[in-house]
Amino acid sequence: GAQVVLEDVGFYYPSRPGTAALRHFSLDVAPGETVALVGESGAGKSTVFQLLLRFFDPQTGDIRLDGQSLRRFALDDLRGRIGLVPQDAVIFSTTALENIRYGRPDATEAEVRHAARLAHAEGFIDALPDGFHTFLGERGVRLSGGQKQRLSIARAILKAPPLLLLDEATSALDAESERVVQAALESAMEGRTTLVIAHRLATVQRADRIVVLDHGAIVEQGTHAELIARG
Ligand code: ADP
Ligand code: ADP
Repeated sequence: GAQVVLEDVGFYYPSRPGTAALRHFSLDVAPGETVALVGESGAGKSTVFQLLLRFFDPQTGDIRLDGQSLRRFALDDLRGRIGLVPQDAVIFSTTALENIRYGRPDATEAEVRHAARLAHAEGFIDALPDGFHTFLGERGVRLSGGQKQRLSIARAILKAPPLLLLDEATSALDAESERVVQAALESAMEGRTTLVIAHRLATVQRADRIVVLDHGAIVEQGTHAELIARG
């Protein structure tokens, strides 16, 4: 896994120069570590992801991946090292299998199927996700939110990036679906550095470290046990 360092990062969105989305934000994530980002809506969690993917650059401070400032990476190289599982999985109008392959177009079918198995998506790998059925009639299958998430996770597993950014779904999954998604996430996190925007207690409990954000700053961090002990 990769090492990620955010050093005294200050950032405001260009459209909102009066409001700091992150302020004096410093975070050091060790190779292989899983860090859960938690905090109210608007606290700055997804801004951390946007900066790591370089959709924006911070106005102050520095962000480094494996010791190199993000600004010094070619964008393709940087984004090639990062797997993103967004909250709302982006599914294309083609088979589930091709959706998974998107992360690594050179992958063999066997590799894609293996990733699908690890993400518990093998049961619908040949399905044509929703949207497509409107012009393919009978052949389309409406995938549930949990299934779409598993496709997105399979895509990340296939890509096998050194850094994984997971944004957990906020929408309710039924208990069985939640269990399967959780198992898929665990396969994806195995052996790589992971930052996860955690909405689910199970994920928070499994993280090596929890970082609590409030108004763009880290207000608390530690293991789950440490945070509980501190109340
Ligand atoms: P979280 O992910 O914790 O809900 P965000 O990182 O999305 O929080 O937001 C942090 C702050 O930045 C909030 O004040 C939010 O309104 C603002 N913000 C987020 N995205 C944008 C954007 N694209 N343009 C302007 N402001 C934004
Ligand atoms: P690939 O996914 O094939 O590596 P990219 O370099 O476009 O291609 O993307 C790198 C990472 O950034 C991927 O995980 C992708 O999902 C994510 N990404 C790219 N563009 C966007 C975007 N506009 N919004 C959110 N995530 C994006």
